Amino acid sequence: RFTLTLRKRMAFTEGQLEHMALYDRVTDLYNRHYFEHELRKAITRIKREGKDGALLYFDVDDFKKVNDLCGHQAGDDVLRMIAERLKKTTRSGDIIGRVGGDEFAAILFGVGTPENAAVVADNMIRVIAEPFPTEPIESHVGLSIGVTMIPVDSDDSDTLLRCSDMAMYVAKSLGKNRYQFFSEEINNRIQRQLEIEAALRKALKADSAGLWVAYQPQVCAKTGRLMGVEALMRWAQDDGKPISPADFIPVAEKTGLIIDLGKWVLKRVCRDLAELRSLGIEIPKVAINVSPRELTRGYNIVGEICQTLVSFGERVGRFQFEVTENALMDDNGADVLDAFRDAGFSLAIDDFGSGYSSLGYLKRFQVSALKIDQQFVQRLPDDAEDGAIASAVIQMSKALGITVVAEGVETEAQAAFLAEHGCDILQGYLISRPIAPQQLIEFIRK
Ligand code: C2E
Ligand code: CA
Ligand code: CA
Repeated sequence: RFTLTLRKRMAFTEGQLEHMALYDRVTDLYNRHYFEHELRKAITRIKREGKDGALLYFDVDDFKKVNDLCGHQAGDDVLRMIAERLKKTTRSGDIIGRVGGDEFAAILFGVGTPENAAVVADNMIRVIAEPFPTEPIESHVGLSIGVTMIPVDSDDSDTLLRCSDMAMYVAKSLGKNRYQFFSEEINNRIQRQLEIEAALRKALKADSAGLWVAYQPQVCAKTGRLMGVEALMRWAQDDGKPISPADFIPVAEKTGLIIDLGKWVLKRVCRDLAELRSLGIEIPKVAINVSPRELTRGYNIVGEICQTLVSFGERVGRFQFEVTENALMDDNGADVLDAFRDAGFSLAIDDFGSGYSSLGYLKRFQVSALKIDQQFVQRLPDDAEDGAIASAVIQMSKALGITVVAEGVETEAQAAFLAEHGCDILQGYLISRPIAPQQLIEFIRK
């Protein structure tokens, strides 16, 4: 019995020793040595799985103050609480280590893009900014974070650690409590997106200052008659410089601001239509773009739209909503598209040919129009393959009873080719650029 007890004790002690060799005594996170070992393994895994990861290197700002004001015991408590809070902002498979006195590091698996890593870094800064309950006074600390992307920045663990560490020092020197990407290019991009987000929020609040809607005419390919217009959002910042939708729509989609923007566009369109009506001008059809993000569950977009139209006394039948192919394939999107159609709106598939969809879906959703993606129009009529694609899309649509719109028509030769092959409607700079309502009046009168 004695030997047995002894053996058990030894096994326990060995386990404890092993644990002590791998884990940090205060926070129970991986220690530096073990973290580096795990980082090497992580790089291999990330490369194999093909989805980018990120390495975050943290330094706790003003940690010395905690020790000085509240003592070392409180300092240890704060480190433990920091570890807890960091864990809560990461996914269960992610790895966190304490790699120095007041330095931590984390490996995020599968974040994919720097933008997603930035969201995690932001959350971390936020949770650490909350006061820590210490005696005799509560403690406030911050985080400076350096971020590298794996394997984009490097696939070598030492290099990644060094680069993250360097980026962390830049974050500190720029005023602490912030994150910095090692790559200058990524940094600029993220910075620009943050600026756009802030300005967009401000614009939406400040009575939509700088926001307006441009209308691009769509004409009959045979007769040149105006068939309708596509509403395209426009935004000029305080300094009057316009920002392209290609730059601000993706930011609005990522931040959810697209929901408010979408509501705003519809109201603005209704207002513009009412103004045109007062001048005796009726636009036959208005096409409005809808982002996939607006089709998600939990937001009753169709109900919202109907309410707005009722309040402006607008007819449902003249509105067409443009969605991309991918929306048809998404289960959430599909329900909403049914609702659109049931409410009496017509649906157009935007940028057709650039995404994935099956022909069966076109029938299933009773799609009214297909818009041939600009990239297939650009090289008409000389490029034989693009010509084949365009004419195949037109023939297929005809067979299914779907209207075909060609986008990005810039030359007479393109227009002639499309008309000859049976395309119904043309839209593009050849006919008109997207224009303000005032210019639209002139266009129609001409
Ligand atoms: P989109 O729906 O494919 O819109 C067509 C884009 O092609 C517009 O760019 C238009 O100005 C441009 N375009 C029209 N004719 C020509 C041409 O002949 N040549 C060339 N090169 N381009 C032409 P824009 O206005 O910059 O909009 C970009 C994208 O932003 C749109 O692509 C759409 O996806 C999105 N967007 C614009 N307004 C809204 C909106 O109100 N809501 C949503 N969700 N997305 C919008
Ligand atoms: Ca469109
Ligand atoms: Ca398009």
